[in-house]
Amino acid sequence: MHVLVTGGAGFIGSNYVRRLLTGGLDTEVSGVTVLDKLTYAGNLENLAPVSDDSRLRFVRGDIADETLVPKLLSEVDAVVNFAAESHVDRSIGNSTEFVHTNIVGTHNLLRAAQQEGTPRFVHVSTDEVYGSIEEGSWTEEWPLEPNSPYAAAKAGADLLVRSYARTHGLNVSITRCSNNYGPYQFPEKVIPLFVTSLMRGGTVPLYGDGLNVRDWLHVDDHCRGIDLVLAKGEPGEVYNIGGGRELTNRELTSVLLEAFGADWSSVRAVADRKGHDRRYSLDDSKLRRLGYRPQVSFEEGIRQTVAWYRENASWWQPLLESAA
Ligand code: NAD
Repeated sequence: MHVLVTGGAGFIGSNYVRRLLTGGLDTEVSGVTVLDKLTYAGNLENLAPVSDDSRLRFVRGDIADETLVPKLLSEVDAVVNFAAESHVDRSIGNSTEFVHTNIVGTHNLLRAAQQEGTPRFVHVSTDEVYGSIEEGSWTEEWPLEPNSPYAAAKAGADLLVRSYARTHGLNVSITRCSNNYGPYQFPEKVIPLFVTSLMRGGTVPLYGDGLNVRDWLHVDDHCRGIDLVLAKGEPGEVYNIGGGRELTNRELTSVLLEAFGADWSSVRAVADRKGHDRRYSLDDSKLRRLGYRPQVSFEEGIRQTVAWYRENASWWQPLLESAA
């Protein structure tokens, strides 16, 4: 199978590409084409471990490009759409690019896939489309109640995906995953931000009362879930991917402080994020019925992730410098 991976130079997309090409996933690939715009979040270094693989082709471009996308889709058997603007805080500052990539870009992919008769499409979405839940866990039937511009743009894309499955019979499924962590995550997201700050002896910012709850899943488990949906997901269906570890931001901060032998004097309280969702929690039993089981325990995943950032300062230091 030849797979088009959009956003394949980002955190999760590059993990999926590396695993497709080096093993660990069920999909067997004859080719992988990465389409990535290389925004601030895209980094060819993320693909360096597989750059010599003759099955990999990299194309720099925009998923909203109405000429390029149909051409690429005519050459592949499946598309997995990771490309997105993905940082909530940035979407609060300016949501224009979020609408462009997450909605207009996804629409362009769907339209081209319909025109070109692309056999299989997986759209990677997020649990943030459901909003915030005080108790219990979201099933896929939960209404979409996004609160941030990021989540709203992802929800808009999900509705377009649904419409292309219902109206045009496109063979497209949606995944909605909880918060990911692991190597190669851009150091603006909370875990790599805290790890790289603590490594440099700095302080870390904790939003509000620190009691917001997130479900943390290792990126390898997310990619396993996506790959299972690519193989076994039904057209027009949504699959939650969860099963990580629910932690308050204070608990997460404690784990990371401990990893560096630091204490709460390294933490500074900052004003809460606008519209900050209180709790995310997914019911992933639908995907488990297809055979999904997360394999990376939170303790082991965090240990490996902290070790990776310790050993790969040459990866993240230039990113911090260019962001400064
Ligand atoms: P990321 O920001 O690390 O990577 C996004 C990639 O998309 C980058 O390589 C960027 O260059 C590329 N891109 C952006 N706009 C583009 C465009 N118009 N055309 C082509 N490429 C473009 O994001 P991530 O954390 O790897 O997330 C990947 C996907 O997974 C996103 O769709 C996100 O909504 C979803 N998701 C992320 C998480 C998480 O915790 N990070 C959780 C659930 C779902």
